[in-house]
Amino acid sequence: MIVNILDKKKSILNKFISEIRDVNIQKDSMRFRRNIGRIGEIIGYELSQSLSFEKNTITTPLGTKIVDTPKKDIVLCSILRAGLPLHDGLLNYFDDAENAFISAYRKHRNDTEFEIKVEYFASPNLDNKTLILADPMLATGQSIVAVYEGLKKHGTPKEIHLACVIGSIEGIEYIKNYFPENTKLWIATVDDNLNDKGYIVPGLGDAGDLAFGVKL
Ligand code: URA
Repeated sequence: MIVNILDKKKSILNKFISEIRDVNIQKDSMRFRRNIGRIGEIIGYELSQSLSFEKNTITTPLGTKIVDTPKKDIVLCSILRAGLPLHDGLLNYFDDAENAFISAYRKHRNDTEFEIKVEYFASPNLDNKTLILADPMLATGQSIVAVYEGLKKHGTPKEIHLACVIGSIEGIEYIKNYFPENTKLWIATVDDNLNDKGYIVPGLGDAGDLAFGVKL
């Protein structure tokens, strides 16, 4: 796997990451969603540089120009529900992508043990497409792997990009065993630890709850 950690280079991205982590600022759910969306746009820009391009002849009012534009073969897949604001940001840039939505949640056996349940599944065919799989919090890595295992039934993408906001070192190491070697991970920032409930530390808390409210 090719791992690209975007905050290694200082940019405005750092401000958006600080705001989603900050206990005072993250309480504003509209700002939280918007910041995740803005991070999605930056991830989209960065990963766009490694997409396949094709030549297009564009007619302007004064003439024609040949320009390289990304191939229209992108499928953008997000994991419900926390993935929605990240999906929105990516879709702002890849506006003609096909879309897939998968639900994945942690079914807890007890306080510290859980299994990932994948239930809702809506995806186009993936054969020879460019798959962008978005998951804001790459914690244990189990959700993104469970979703990918399901997606395999819908075809074989020609390339895979993983778009994440905050990850753990452990999660990144875990997913390396399940995705093809040439998969590219685009992640805004990486934290050192996971707690015994599988949350990223210091992380930001529960991304789904912060974006959409606390669930039962
Ligand atoms: N999901 C979250 O929302 N936060 C974490 O830290 C881990 C998984």
